[in-house]
Amino acid sequence: MPLAQTSTTVPVIVNDDLCIADKGCTVCVDVCPLDVLRIVETDEGNKTAFMKYDECWYCMPCEADCPTGAVTVNLPYLLK
Ligand code: SF4
Ligand code: SF4
Repeated sequence: MPLAQTSTTVPVIVNDDLCIADKGCTVCVDVCPLDVLRIVETDEGNKTAFMKYDECWYCMPCEADCPTGAVTVNLPYLLK
């Protein structure tokens, strides 16, 4: 199985257009208790957050605390 996840298969999606990691924001990375989010540089040279490891407790602070609303946590059907 490839290590790289496509953005449609992981539980947490970050909208690169809204993410302000470029300006130093690391809120979602800091609040995640599982430490599965990371800041990376995109092909365009901007920084953005993304889900590095496909593990999630669906505890939601990453989505709730993101100052720009860039994070979407896709809750599994059974948890909704
Ligand atoms: S909290 Fe939001 S704006 Fe900040 S790095 Fe994470 S996704 Fe980007
Ligand atoms: S929902 Fe919780 S475990 Fe999942 S990425 Fe966000 S902070 Fe981390």
